[in-house]
Amino acid sequence: MKYTSICIKCGQSKGFFRRQCISCGFQPASQLDLAKSLMLSTNFEIQSNEFGNEYLGKTWNELQKIGQHIGCGEPYEFDPDLLEKARQQIESIEQLTPRMVLKSVVLWLSPVMLMIVVVLYLAFRS
Ligand SMILES: [Zn+2]
Repeated sequence: MKYTSICIKCGQSKGFFRRQCISCGFQPASQLDLAKSLMLSTNFEIQSNEFGNEYLGKTWNELQKIGQHIGCGEPYEFDPDLLEKARQQIESIEQLTPRMVLKSVVLWLSPVMLMIVVVLYLAFRS
């Protein structure tokens, strides 16, 4: 298994940040816990600022060090600004339901469909 995140409760390495921790059984469920878990993973990437993508994630080495501290009982201090960004990222991921995707596809396709209808109408009119 590829480790990409750190358990926010016990500091053990785990896979995808949403996964349950094998060591302590902690399963991030609340938005806050998911945001913290995202922060302690290599998946944490913030998009969209004026310079393009801004990478705020930590390297795997840094994450492992944080994990060791958590493992020793030292709580990790989550930066409030970054935590808020992580929370927004969780929120935007969760808003991306299949229904939303379908809706945006239809919205994108409707002008194209309209164009085709107009072109066909003009072609067959004469
Ligand atoms: Zn754990």
